[in-house]
This record gives sequence, structure tokens and C-alpha cells, in this order.
Amino acid sequence: MLEFVEGTLPANLAAAVKQHIDGCPRCMQELERQSSRTRALQKLGRVAAPDQWDEIHRSIQRTGWMYFVKRYGIPAAIFGLTAALIFLAVMFALSL
Ligand SMILES: [Zn+2]
Repeated sequence: MLEFVEGTLPANLAAAVKQHIDGCPRCMQELERQSSRTRALQKLGRVAAPDQWDEIHRSIQRTGWMYFVKRYGIPAAIFGLTAALIFLAVMFALSL
């Protein structure tokens, strides 16, 4: 079925599948489902081109921090960062 949707099925088989689907509502429905999913994947494929993987990877790594900023706002994020820096400075001073 997926081969039929992607057009990689041999012509004679594709014709047989198409003939069956024309007379079979269940397969017609399944075909619609597969087609829309394949189209969605193809759309995604264009957006997520290989040369954008670095950017996607970085944004995934940023997600944790960005989630915090979105959830609590930028002032809270700055406060959190400052608190973390003060904590690190204190730890550093104590270790001297
Ligand atoms: Zn059928």
C-alpha cells in the first residue's frame, strides 16, 4: 500500500491495486489516510533539509532553557541565571 502511495509499485501491480481500491471503500479510506501522511512527511522533509539539522539540533538543546524563559518570563530567567552565578561565585570563593 505504501509503495502504491509513493508510486514505487510496478505499473501492473499499481493498476491492479487502483482497480481494487476503486471498488473498495475500506481501502479507499486507508489510501486517503496513507496519502495525507505521506504528503505531510514530504512537506516535513522539505522543511527539515539536511543542511538545517545543525540548527534543529541546537534548538532542541536550547528547548530546556527556552521552556523556562517562556514558562516564568525573562526576569525570572535572569534572576535564575544571576542566582546560579552567585552560587558558583560563592562555591569558587569557598574553594580558595
Ligand atoms: Zn480492499
